[in-house]
Amino acid sequence: MVSGIHTNDRINVVPVKFSNNSFLKKIINELNRRFHSDISPLAMDLDIGETFSEERAQYFSTQIIASFSSLTSDVSGKVLLITEVDLFVPVLTFVFGEAQLNGKHSIVSVCRLHEEFYSGISDDDLLFQRTMKEVLHELGHCFGLIHCKDWDCVMHSSQGIEEVDIKGNFYCKTCARSVIGLK
Ligand SMILES: [Zn+2]
Ligand SMILES: [Zn+2]
Repeated sequence: MVSGIHTNDRINVVPVKFSNNSFLKKIINELNRRFHSDISPLAMDLDIGETFSEERAQYFSTQIIASFSSLTSDVSGKVLLITEVDLFVPVLTFVFGEAQLNGKHSIVSVCRLHEEFYSGISDDDLLFQRTMKEVLHELGHCFGLIHCKDWDCVMHSSQGIEEVDIKGNFYCKTCARSVIGLK
């Protein structure tokens, strides 16, 4: 029997260089359907300019999380950052997101989840599906889940957009069982 990780923790959704409020609301509504926790938008004013790499024209996700960590010590629960900017970590060309395993913070970028990025064609529904998968994936890490071999599971890792599209948008039974509080 897997020991359960409780998700009664509030999930604070923080926009970072993200201006699409109706999209943010849609994400929050969907998270409300998926978790028993309180899901709340949280406005935090923080300049992430220092995390920008001129050379790569991307923002360093680990540094963004570190900058927010100093501001969120009084915030209870999890902190999910949502951004439009393109993210990287030094060993990879880009990342869709990053999370602290069993920790408080995670970040998801929608930059490379836009279909325009690949084909030039805009698809709002596809963007939402992709964003939810990456949001659930990164939150899963915050709730202690590691990568899952099951392609139907949202905790499967995704190196590219094809893999985001192939994987499922729910936690598999094994992953779900280890996190108490999922709907
Ligand atoms: Zn992951
Ligand atoms: Zn799984």
